[in-house]
Amino acid sequence: MNGELHSLVCLKVVPKSEEVSVDRESKTLDRGHARSEINPPDMNALEMALALKDRHGGRVSLLSMGPPFVAPMLRAALAMGADHAYLLSDRAFGGADTLATSLTLAAAIRKIGDVDLVLCGEESSDGATAQVPPGIAAWLDLPQATYAHSVAFDDTRDHILVVREVHDGEETLDVPLPAVLSVKVSTNEPRFMDTARLVCLRANDPVTTWTAADLDVDPGHLGGAGSPTSVTGLGEVAGAGSGRRREVLKGTPEEEAHLLYERITEFLRSAGMPARGG
Ligand SMILES: Cc1cc2nc3c(=O)[nH]c(=O)nc-3n(C[C@H](O)[C@H](O)[C@H](O)COP(=O)(O)OP(=O)(O)OC[C@H]3O[C@@H](n4cnc5c(N)ncnc54)[C@H](O)[C@@H]3O)c2cc1C
Repeated sequence: MNGELHSLVCLKVVPKSEEVSVDRESKTLDRGHARSEINPPDMNALEMALALKDRHGGRVSLLSMGPPFVAPMLRAALAMGADHAYLLSDRAFGGADTLATSLTLAAAIRKIGDVDLVLCGEESSDGATAQVPPGIAAWLDLPQATYAHSVAFDDTRDHILVVREVHDGEETLDVPLPAVLSVKVSTNEPRFMDTARLVCLRANDPVTTWTAADLDVDPGHLGGAGSPTSVTGLGEVAGAGSGRRREVLKGTPEEEAHLLYERITEFLRSAGMPARGG
């Protein structure tokens, strides 16, 4: 690492998940009555960056793509101890899928420059694809570690040791910097904002807003125009436990696999879905 540690945290502002409903007519999320919040795992990513700053010094930048109402939330995150915030706000960014979102965020990170560590949440509470952090790493051609729950520097501070959650345990990765991390939700306790700091921010606003014209990206790659995917339908899933049946399949592994195949095929047919294969 050259000089001080510069961490950048990607914060997505999302509707509070418990207040969002599905509009059955339009098959879209009805966010009109929902309050907004910073995506919860992003707060864990911010706390991880601030804890690194406490231990090693340096600075923390924030980056968000969203409408202008995101700016006050960035100020609240700045009051927790971050140093500068960048808001990407332009109608041209609207309707972005994960490809266009990660491309846009990556272009801004490139423009900000000198970033050692990009921290994201593990996934958003609305889109919930978990594709944006790996997307950013791919566009910037950087190494990545997902589902991180703790980090530490090695002696050289050229690498970071990342403990990440895997299916049946955890693994430690030695990742060269600069790098992109996605941070596991609830991995730490985000600190409260410092209200005195918030008052100071009002006098000297460290939120920079960039539009599409500020980024070195072909407009055809932004927003809906640059998004090969779109959400065409939404459905509600019955709550856990409703209509749940339990059956233990007994036999040799081959017999069990065959019985499982039969049960899945029966279920798909009863749900009116085509069951393929033999
Ligand atoms: C119900 C629903 C379903 C969707 N399904 C898909 C889909 O299947 N495929 C698809 O391509 N798009 C989908 N989208 C669109 C998707 O929400 C947007 O592309 C979004 O901008 C990024 O994807 P995500 O929310 O899944 O992010 P994730 O990849 O889950 O987010 C991970 C992290 O990336 C960072 N991040 C993500 N977005 C931003 C942002 N705007 N600003 C700053 N940091 C950010 C945050 O740190 C976040 O914690 C869906 C949207 C909705 C509402």
